[in-house]
Amino acid sequence: MASEREITYKYPWIYSRADRSPDDNIVACYDCRLPYPEGNDCVIDNEIWDRISPTGGEGGILCANCMIGRLHFLDIYNVEARLW
Ligand SMILES: [Zn+2]
Repeated sequence: MASEREITYKYPWIYSRADRSPDDNIVACYDCRLPYPEGNDCVIDNEIWDRISPTGGEGGILCANCMIGRLHFLDIYNVEARLW
C-alpha cells in the first residue's frame, strides 16, 4: 500500500503492467518515457533500487534523471551509482 507521500509524487509511484509502456515495442523510462537506452544506463545497489522501483521490486526502467527524482523525493542523497 502506497504511503501518502508516495501518492503525491509527480508520476505514479508503482506502475501496473499495463501502464509500464504505451507500446510494448518501445522500451522506455516508466516515468518520463525517455526511450531506453537513449539516456545513460545507471545502476544502483539493489537495496536502494527496491525503494524507488516503479514496479514495487520487480525491476523496471527508470532513466538516471528519474532515479534521482525518486531518490530525492525520499530524501535519499549521495547514492553510489555506476554509469554505462
Ligand atoms: Zn525518466
